[in-house]
Amino acid sequence: MDTLQVGTRQRVEFIDITGQVSQWLAGQPPVSGVLTVFVPHTTAGIMIYENADPDVIRDLTVQLDKLVPFEDNYRHAEGNAAAHIKATFIGSSVQAPVEGGRLQLGTWQGIFFCEFDGPRRRKVQVQVLGAVDG
Ligand code: ZN
Repeated sequence: MDTLQVGTRQRVEFIDITGQVSQWLAGQPPVSGVLTVFVPHTTAGIMIYENADPDVIRDLTVQLDKLVPFEDNYRHAEGNAAAHIKATFIGSSVQAPVEGGRLQLGTWQGIFFCEFDGPRRRKVQVQVLGAVDG
C-alpha cells in the first residue's frame, strides 16, 4: 500500500485524481487484478464519477447540499456534521479493474477525491492486488 497526497482548497471540492492514481500504478509491477483506493478520513470520500462535463459535478454538489444542509440543528459539537454525513453517503473506498498495470475505467469515468470539510491536506491510500502478467 502507498499513500498519495491531495491538497484541497475549498470547503467542498471534488478533485479528479485519476491521473495521479494512474501515474502511481505505472510505477508498480504490471499486474492484472484489482485496484483499491481508500480515503482514511471521516469528512472526505472517494467515488467513481462522470469526468467529462463539469456540470455533472456541479449538479452533485447542489443535490448533496439539499440532502444534507450545512446547518440543521446537528448535535455534533465540532460543527462539521454535514461533512461527516456526506462522506458516509459517498463512501471511503472504490475499486477498479487493472489489466497489465493499466486502469480499466469506462470512457466517461474518473476517480474523484471528495472534500467536505476543507481546505486540508489529505491522504489517499492505494493498493493493487493481482498477478504479474506473463
Ligand atoms: Zn466532526
